[in-house]
Amino acid sequence: MASESSKTQQSPIDHWIGGQRVKPTSGKYFTIKNPLNDSGMGEAAAGSVEDVNAAVEAAQKAFQSFRNSLPKERERILCKAAEILERDRNEFVDILVDEIGSPIKKANFEVEKALTLFRAAAGMSRNVTGKTIPSDVPGKFSMSVRAPIGVVAAITPFNVPLIKCVRLSCNPIGLGNTVVMMPSEEAPMIANRLAKLYEEAGLPEGVYNVVTGNGYEIGDTLTTHPHVKMVTFTGSSVVGQHIRELCAKHGKRMTLELGGKSPLVVMDDADMQQAVAGAVQSIFMYQGQVCMGASRVYVQQGVFDQFVKGFSQAAKGLQAGDLRDPATMIGPIISERQRGRVRDHIEDARDKGAKLEAGGDWDENRCLPTVLTGVTPQMTVYAQETFGPVVSVYPIKTIDDAIAESNDSRFGLSAAIFTTNINDAMRYALEVESGMVHVNGSSLHDEPHVPFGGVKDSGYGREGTEEDIEAMTEWKWITIQM
Ligand code: NAD
Repeated sequence: MASESSKTQQSPIDHWIGGQRVKPTSGKYFTIKNPLNDSGMGEAAAGSVEDVNAAVEAAQKAFQSFRNSLPKERERILCKAAEILERDRNEFVDILVDEIGSPIKKANFEVEKALTLFRAAAGMSRNVTGKTIPSDVPGKFSMSVRAPIGVVAAITPFNVPLIKCVRLSCNPIGLGNTVVMMPSEEAPMIANRLAKLYEEAGLPEGVYNVVTGNGYEIGDTLTTHPHVKMVTFTGSSVVGQHIRELCAKHGKRMTLELGGKSPLVVMDDADMQQAVAGAVQSIFMYQGQVCMGASRVYVQQGVFDQFVKGFSQAAKGLQAGDLRDPATMIGPIISERQRGRVRDHIEDARDKGAKLEAGGDWDENRCLPTVLTGVTPQMTVYAQETFGPVVSVYPIKTIDDAIAESNDSRFGLSAAIFTTNINDAMRYALEVESGMVHVNGSSLHDEPHVPFGGVKDSGYGREGTEEDIEAMTEWKWITIQM
């Protein structure tokens, strides 16, 4: 039972504002549920407009001194943060397993990734460099310098809370900005535990603040607050579009990392074992609740049957056991709302004539890995993001088909192609409408220093150490007449 295996039962979580635990002004808390069986495993503060305002004020106050912190100080804090995470990794893993139903392998992956994010952000602090610029005026020395922008609002999704809470806080902090974090209401514990980590690492009060609560109720207050200079958001395209409009209206910078319906192509000449393994990893990791998940697979007709057979067998063989068993791949779907969406997509496809090559069944809150063929544009699963372990496999004839079908989507986050033909690989990589493309590798891939992000409805702007220096600092042009 989930409640028996929960290792993270704890006292109510308050906000973290200005280096203090702060009770919600409403006095209300909401229940944090273990998605294995929806049992309560704790409570978190239900934030209000007043709480958001207090957090932004604290961040604005802290910015007045933190903006002048030395690179070596920020570097030391972020290196120390990595050390503490490495030391306390089991605590973070336990939260990821219990709070969001991460199989332990995925939880460990998050910790490893977060360590690289902290270390890469430590390096950012020394790279806030400027330029000297030639001047048209005799005797005028011209240069430009960068300065931190101020308070950054960071809003995160439920699915990779450690990766996103770390990345969306350590990059702004590495540059001398301050942060108000609003984590997903389904994953408030990680953001909160991170506050303790940053405090131990020596981060000054008010530089990292956390307000928990329902994003629908308090998100707009955060996004539009006059002191907030930038919103860095990761979540669904619907909420992202809403934030995009508010940021445009209120003159805020933004990066938006949104939903996906990523394509994966398998050509006749592909290494079949590699392609099947890549497709399995791309859609079934964390039971398909990953933005870069390849939920559309296009297979050249010469190997279509062979691929469908191998892929379906592999899907049926994935373990849905104890989340703390490293062999487990499939855990529960996060919430009843999300389970409803996954169920609807499968049932709609089945009712309209799609063939279930694998899965379609549920084991309590877990959806078993589901492989569909015969999917048509009339089915919901054809174009919409399911955000579950559900994948449609389609036959194609040529590389042109692969490109055209891949681009027939309003999303454009990640893409993958398996082929041994360099020309096909390169054409696909250059012509697919996607922020990221991987040849002979999974569609799920991320590193701290690469330009991570999507096109079309999958996002706006890019995350990454270089990209965040551009996004989270302000240029100033200075001249000196000699
Ligand atoms: P979601 O959009 O429902 O919620 C994300 C966050 O937005 C939550 O913290 C929520 O409280 C907040 N929110 C809701 N309304 C808001 C408002 N009006 N103003 C500000 N914030 C508000 O997404 P989710 O279900 O938590 O996550 C799944 C989605 O995230 C999927 O679509 C997935 O593809 C996407 N995602 C994208 C990436 C990426 O890098 N592109 C990474 C992970 C997840």
